[in-house]
Amino acid sequence: MTDLTTLGIAAIRDGVRDGQFKAREVAEAFNAKVAGADALNAFLVKTPDHALAAADAADAARAAGETLKPLAGVPIGMKDLFATKGVATTAASKILEGFVPPYESTVSQNLWNAGAGMLGKLNLDQFAMGSSNETSAFGNVISPWRRPNDTAPLAPGGSSGGSSTAVSAGLAPGATGTDTGGSIRQPAAFTGISGIKPTYGRCSRWGTIAFASSLDQAGPMARDVRDCAIMLEAMAGFDAKDATSLKLDVPNWEAALSADLKGKRVGVPKEYRVDGMPGEIEALWQQGIDWMRDAGAEIVEVSLPHTKYALPAYYIIAPAEASSNLARYDGVRYGLRDLPEGAGLQDMYAATRAAGFGDEVKRRILIGTYVLSAGFYDAYYTQAQKVRALIARDFERAFESCDVLLTPTAPSAAFALGEKQADPLAMYLNDVFTVPASLAGLPAMSVPGGLDKDGLPLGLQVIGKALDEQGVLNAALAIEQRAGFTARPQAWW
Ligand code: GLN
Repeated sequence: MTDLTTLGIAAIRDGVRDGQFKAREVAEAFNAKVAGADALNAFLVKTPDHALAAADAADAARAAGETLKPLAGVPIGMKDLFATKGVATTAASKILEGFVPPYESTVSQNLWNAGAGMLGKLNLDQFAMGSSNETSAFGNVISPWRRPNDTAPLAPGGSSGGSSTAVSAGLAPGATGTDTGGSIRQPAAFTGISGIKPTYGRCSRWGTIAFASSLDQAGPMARDVRDCAIMLEAMAGFDAKDATSLKLDVPNWEAALSADLKGKRVGVPKEYRVDGMPGEIEALWQQGIDWMRDAGAEIVEVSLPHTKYALPAYYIIAPAEASSNLARYDGVRYGLRDLPEGAGLQDMYAATRAAGFGDEVKRRILIGTYVLSAGFYDAYYTQAQKVRALIARDFERAFESCDVLLTPTAPSAAFALGEKQADPLAMYLNDVFTVPASLAGLPAMSVPGGLDKDGLPLGLQVIGKALDEQGVLNAALAIEQRAGFTARPQAWW
């Protein structure tokens, strides 16, 4: 019998529906994989009973002859940024240690309503701030990938490093991610899986621990484009509890998947040819352009002139919003409280925040508070907002002459743990290709394109017009079919 953990979301859904295997067998197989993968440190909490209960519900529905829900029998991993009722939720920070939400986030609830079950809560960069998962307060996630003849642990990408690791190591057929400046796309690229950040507002932010509210978007990470489409359909939808939620029906993206790009124009932004980009990434990008042409698309060169200001603008706006959002962790309401002997209220705030937040989170709060302070507000925050508007306008103009854009996802393959940790700027530079679409609120997807000389995955990014997830998924599918990416990490854990 096939190892059920080799199956993706569509195959599990169809197999359960057609009676090839029981949902319970699927859940048991993944629970066993998760239990045997502690060396990867991808899971902060394991919830095998949640996965089993959803599986039993799927099996019972099938036995009763009911129509199965869209994700019936599919167990998934949940990034620990989504509040899950009765299950510890920490955002990988000490400040939320011991916090058990009495409510369920809208995205996770949508997934349970669609029949999915939860294998556990996935490790991440603390408060989703980072590109390597090294800012987690609960230890780093280790990528399942390694360079040949080299046991040096590699970064799984961040901030959704637990999600990327769980999916690429076969511990879950799919996982939720969140993407503020690249946290779905870059870890997907580093681990050879697919991930889509939808248009800002497609997925409700309600119950998702906030980092930078004008940028945060949830999305799926899975083995292929179809699985991402299926999972995104379940996650997305209008939610009155999120003021920025889009009041639109969720399209049936899976049904309209097509890798035929005839009549489509694919834009190649010349400003993404950044200095120092490795030749292999450049070559993969060219390969991607050829694949698009082969799929019937016309290739056009486009210009996004303000690209070089995107990263600096992002690293002002995101920390500014974070400094405001994270003001709520004061030792009064959630998680950690540090109340030194004889201390007053202010001392308690200070002691709790000093003990509870990690260094990167503190750095962001300090930067954010600085750029919002009187005297510096106009010079930094207002300027950055203006740059953001110009970046959005660049995309609008580019989309006058094309339907989607094709770029590399990240300027490098996975780096070693520790390699960039001491230099925050080097770390921030890894987000250079993902941040612009975030600032403009556009849908963007990473899909595996190939391997570098060390056998590590490289991703290609497709960016689409607002609300055109279909165009993004279809272009990504055309790449997927031509790339024939089947590489998997060799199990060492
Ligand atoms: N790496 C980026 C950051 O550190 C993006 C993180 C994210 O998308 N959550 O801010």
